[in-house]
Amino acid sequence: MKVAVSESIDPNPTKSAAAHVPLSRDFHLFESQLGNHLLVVDGSQVFDLDPFWAEQLEKWLVAEELTAEMTAFRQSFLMPGGKVAINDTPLEPPPLRSLSLNIAQSCNLGCQYCYADAGKFGGHAQFMAQDVAEQGVERLIIEAEPGVDLVVGFMGGEPLLNRQLIHHITRYASQRGQETGHKIRFSLTTNGTLIEPEDAALFAAYGFNISVSIDGPQWLHDRLRPTPKGRGSYEAVLRGLERLKAKRPGHLSARITVTPQTGQLLPILRHVLSLGFDDAGFAPVLVSPNPDYAFEAEDFSQFLEDMLECGQVCQQHLLDGKRFPFTNFETALHEIHRGSHRPYPCGAGAGYLSMNSQGKLYACHRLVDNEQWALGSAQDGSNFEARQELLKRSHVNSRSPCRNCWARYLCGGGCYHEVSQQGRIACDYIRGWLEFCLAAYAELSTARPEYFLTPETYFVN
Ligand code: SF4
Ligand code: SF4
Repeated sequence: MKVAVSESIDPNPTKSAAAHVPLSRDFHLFESQLGNHLLVVDGSQVFDLDPFWAEQLEKWLVAEELTAEMTAFRQSFLMPGGKVAINDTPLEPPPLRSLSLNIAQSCNLGCQYCYADAGKFGGHAQFMAQDVAEQGVERLIIEAEPGVDLVVGFMGGEPLLNRQLIHHITRYASQRGQETGHKIRFSLTTNGTLIEPEDAALFAAYGFNISVSIDGPQWLHDRLRPTPKGRGSYEAVLRGLERLKAKRPGHLSARITVTPQTGQLLPILRHVLSLGFDDAGFAPVLVSPNPDYAFEAEDFSQFLEDMLECGQVCQQHLLDGKRFPFTNFETALHEIHRGSHRPYPCGAGAGYLSMNSQGKLYACHRLVDNEQWALGSAQDGSNFEARQELLKRSHVNSRSPCRNCWARYLCGGGCYHEVSQQGRIACDYIRGWLEFCLAAYAELSTARPEYFLTPETYFVN
């Protein structure tokens, strides 16, 4: 929540010693239409600034030299006892919360940019057997905290190529959850082309979170997501979508993959939302076997411009009390509002693991069959030491240049898969996007606080 910063700090502090750490690492100034604001990086706290403090901080941040005043300023944001929300200590591997099952390492499409080699991850097409999948569910339950909700995800390739297993494991896991005191939730990531009415009925009955990959209008989608014989897949996706909408799963979102040739994003977002998804968001391709389809560092400035255009339209809709469910933007707004702060980009290797078709565990669904990210097996259990090591080396404060980046606790240091293949080529985009979202948050939380306080009724009124 925002408060005026002038109420929280002493402008005439006493001297205190501290190691020289650049102030810009911990404090970030940004502007909105309402004026100046401050992001305190630790704890992701947002404050309004009066003109005196805006000028004062600007001077300090430009000087980059640690004075007694600046040290005291930094100290004034520490919690009682000098505590910080995030220190440099790596997370200990927590109990498992979520396991994705790569039940079909094979795909019926031949998407131009697919990082997963049509689901085969550089190997042969493989399908998970029932006993292996059951073992995965048992492993998740054994390594979870008692009583907590758990998530079983179905991934591929295209998971519906192993349809019977999805139906079986959904019922099996749900039953085992009841017996062991866990509510089991389900998610499925699909290309949408193979959905039958009985699948839609299952997804509705068990409240699935469904993510459908669709890349825009037919001409664009068919170019990027053809069948292996070169035919388009758009019509098959729409057929699957109609079946899903007829039953309505728990949540239905669209994932729009963006290549450097995609073009302006706003018309694509409008088109996809018009198809009846609950929400839609973009994901740029950073890793692709075909370099023509992967972003280079210089492609991100155009991508940022397009994202800002979509964000501005969404912001205006929110100001007007209307829905324009653009997930990249709304997720960022709510994370900023909650003060989300994390030293990792995601839960990979922590509360989340992914299992390949043979029952081996990996850090996440994009890292399956990559032995550098192997973390045990369903049969023998997750490898605690290997997870500990992953969390140690991945802490954002142990990575360069992340440790001195103001965006680090909102970004987490970048997707492991993308960074390991491409390095950190998206940092300017990430910071530019967050800067926009912070300003939009400052404006929206002033004009429409109810959107954050009671989001469930906001659009009803
Ligand atoms: S990946 Fe880039 S934007 Fe993210 S924390 Fe690291 S330096 Fe900052
Ligand atoms: S490592 Fe990347 S792909 Fe894997 S869960 Fe994290 S953000 Fe997602």
